[in-house]
Amino acid sequence: MSIIYGPVLSRRFGYSLGIDIVPYKICTYDCIYCQLGKTTNKTVERKRYISIDLAELIEGLKKAIKDNKRIDYITFSGAGEPTLNQDIGILIDGVKKVTNIPVVVLTGGGILYKESVREDLKKADIVKISFDAPNDKILRKVNRPHREIGFSKNKEGLKKLLSIFKGRIWLEIMLIKDINDDIGTVEEFKNIIDEIDDIGTGIERIHLNTAVRPTGSKDVSIPDLKRLNKIKAMLGRKAEIIRYKRIEVSGSGRKDLSNDIIELSKRRPVSIKDISESLEVNINEVIKCLRELLIEGKLKYKIYNSTKYYYV
Ligand code: SF4
Repeated sequence: MSIIYGPVLSRRFGYSLGIDIVPYKICTYDCIYCQLGKTTNKTVERKRYISIDLAELIEGLKKAIKDNKRIDYITFSGAGEPTLNQDIGILIDGVKKVTNIPVVVLTGGGILYKESVREDLKKADIVKISFDAPNDKILRKVNRPHREIGFSKNKEGLKKLLSIFKGRIWLEIMLIKDINDDIGTVEEFKNIIDEIDDIGTGIERIHLNTAVRPTGSKDVSIPDLKRLNKIKAMLGRKAEIIRYKRIEVSGSGRKDLSNDIIELSKRRPVSIKDISESLEVNINEVIKCLRELLIEGKLKYKIYNSTKYYYV
């Protein structure tokens, strides 16, 4: 399967061509809301987890740019944490040599304390960082990080990144009812954002996100709209509530992906990894499609051994 996927249409990034540089599911975190399922390799070690031939990647990228009328962003992500790939800086440099399309990196932010990570991220145009916790207690509850990761280290790493970064930094807070949505916690978020916002170009946007789940599921509860609006007002004009609406799922040519997923999950409950492997579609593309199917009520899921299994 190619490491290039999409472009997929997303509300935040328009048409985004993805480059998936970390295999399933290597991550610094094991978030309670993670759609990929349980982290199988929780680590802070940067290395070459998959071998990527830069020349092949560049050829694939040129072809994708030629074949697709519109690509708004090129997004580095992974079925885990992309900054764990020690070559991300070289890969960003490679992409920038062939196109002016802005490069985005989506990161959990757990290893921003490493100078090498900050130096690599400096090459991107936008870095979107998960920022679900304003203290250690919530970080452990929501993100369940590797033991070497702590809130102070995350904050210091973010400050250092801001001081050298010339691009745009977006924070994303996944809000979970009764865990990080109470007024005291939001005040803590606000104090930290105010503290770091003067550094460098500051924080450009704060996305307030909520987990997608079928109605009635109890694993991760979502704050109601009134609470979301209150949080948005407290965090100020940079904060934006992310609402999922039905969108055209893919510009990649796999227009029947929703139907294929439904057909597959009629036979037996399937995990995201099962779907990705069976249909030979990148895991991030599967996630986007599943989100739509859940919102539309066409699929349900149950959790078994910390992994979500989707069924009709
Ligand atoms: S950082 Fe992302 S990939 Fe890693 S566990 Fe959290 S949600 Fe999943």
